[in-house]
Amino acid sequence: MIVVYIKEGLEKTMSKYAAIVLSAGVGSRMKSDIPKQYMDLAGKPVIYYSLKAFEDAGFSSIVLVCGKDDVEYCQKNIVEKYELKNVAAVVPGGKERYHSVFEGLKVLEDADYVFIHDGARPLISQEVIKRLKDAVVKEEAAIAGVLAKDTIKIVDEEAYVTDTPERQYVWQVQTPQCFAFPIIYDAYKSIIQDEEEGWTLPKITDDAMVLEYATDHEVKMVEADYRNIKITTPEDLVIAEAFLRV
Ligand code: C5P
Repeated sequence: MIVVYIKEGLEKTMSKYAAIVLSAGVGSRMKSDIPKQYMDLAGKPVIYYSLKAFEDAGFSSIVLVCGKDDVEYCQKNIVEKYELKNVAAVVPGGKERYHSVFEGLKVLEDADYVFIHDGARPLISQEVIKRLKDAVVKEEAAIAGVLAKDTIKIVDEEAYVTDTPERQYVWQVQTPQCFAFPIIYDAYKSIIQDEEEGWTLPKITDDAMVLEYATDHEVKMVEADYRNIKITTPEDLVIAEAFLRV
């Protein structure tokens, strides 16, 4: 049985800015029985920090998308336990990240702007959220990123270098990725439809790619910060704890 919690009157509390926080999927690189998003970071689960950041930023509609067997766990042990009052819904995600995002978008039908965030990035700052809020109103599609510190090489299947892009144009992309709601909803709807019709999709690793694939809409890169790491491997938790201390 799939359980879904939706706070009463969600349609009426729909704010201008909504957030989808993703915590479905299995992080196989973490080498742990507990999924990375529920692991302890300075006394609280990783996912708590991501949800709290949007609550503190005044988002009154936050949707948590979690594993299909984790809905009840998240509702009780995260949303209720930490009194996250602005989490309006906890819904089960899908097989790939983009399926999970679409499940979140479906719940949010009336939002003006939506911020899509990896729950595994607990260190998102208020300053970056604010910068993205301003950018998305102007651009309709704005994503967080940082300039690559290293030189990036493009290689072929056998790892021979084929290209070296100029570093000033190379960014490492993070989340949140932020969009005017109807634009991203329609883009996701169209790729899900393509998939259902049997088309082969490119490997979709972020939300901007969905827009790039399905529309001609421009996407603006917004400078975030190097602390906004994604907890992927065990050492990332040590780094995140150190960042929380300073
Ligand atoms: O696996 P990866 O590190 O790319 O996951 C990025 C984010 O997407 C994580 O917060 C993870 O919980 C989420 N995700 C999801 N549904 C999936 C796969 C990943 O919500 N099927």
